[in-house]
Amino acid sequence: MTRERPTTFAASITVEPHANSAHQEFEADVEHLCADGVSITYRSGTRLESTVLAIDTMDFRVHRGELVCIVGPSGCGKTTFLNAVAGFLPITGGRLELEGKPITGPGPDRAMVFQNPSLLPWRSALRNVTYGLEMSGLMRRKPAEKRARELLEMVGLDDFIEAYPNKLSGGMQQRVNLARALAVEPELLLLDEPFASVDAQTRETLQAELLRICKQTGVTALFVTHDITEAVYLGDRVCVFSSRPGRVICDIKVELSTSRDPRSRRSAAFIAYIDEVAEALVTGSGNRGRDDNEPRECR
Ligand code: ADP
Ligand code: MG
Repeated sequence: MTRERPTTFAASITVEPHANSAHQEFEADVEHLCADGVSITYRSGTRLESTVLAIDTMDFRVHRGELVCIVGPSGCGKTTFLNAVAGFLPITGGRLELEGKPITGPGPDRAMVFQNPSLLPWRSALRNVTYGLEMSGLMRRKPAEKRARELLEMVGLDDFIEAYPNKLSGGMQQRVNLARALAVEPELLLLDEPFASVDAQTRETLQAELLRICKQTGVTALFVTHDITEAVYLGDRVCVFSSRPGRVICDIKVELSTSRDPRSRRSAAFIAYIDEVAEALVTGSGNRGRDDNEPRECR
């Protein structure tokens, strides 16, 4: 199956959502991100005892258009893995490839959304979103502003386009943060506990917005969260990491018979997925035993 990747957000709005998917009908046969036996070690100083093995021979696949959620105990290497995929951190073993090419550093094909929005306080919402486009020279000012306006409307901030960060709530700032990441039209969106510091109600709204935006843009997403309900609600797959050193102990394909809306969280099928993820977290084991986790070649 092949599908043209939408090149503009306006064009992408015509993409038909897939009723049974959190996201959209993704190209299940097209590998986007491939980790083969990836290890990541932190070294501070020269002494051996000052090394920390954060990720251990990890195998991981993400297909184009998927939204994959990662959950795992604190300190298991979730942020480390995301940083390596973003190209901020080198791997120390194995292979990490995006669209068949080794990741050797950051690039405009990936964008990261951190837990803390860290907006520039002296720039309006609009100018925070245009910042990356202006700095990278990807776009001239006028078209960059047009794009930023569309994105701010897309994340529901129509009335706050000219507002400065100190006039925006935490949830609104996180929307600007998301719009800023989407501005460069990344192929892979990396989200590290992006909704962890907003209140429960705003969080639910942002989750729904994210699902809608992913459908509209066709972006592939890797979403780290501590919240199992959030992971099952958003994810086409939920991957559970072991405690450090991190590796995938459980990889669950979430197949719900109804489309994702807040009511689907009360269904028996949804609760069964939550139990499965919780069990893997508590026992530290799941459907990917060590034997099944042997490194395989990236395509
Ligand atoms: P998570 O995001 O899953 O909570 P991290 O990826 O932040 O975990 O960290 C994984 C492990 O690596 C932790 O044990 C942490 O202490 C360690 N670690 C993270 N950053 C560094 C660093 N810069 N130097 C040394 N160890 C680090
Ligand atoms: Mg983290």
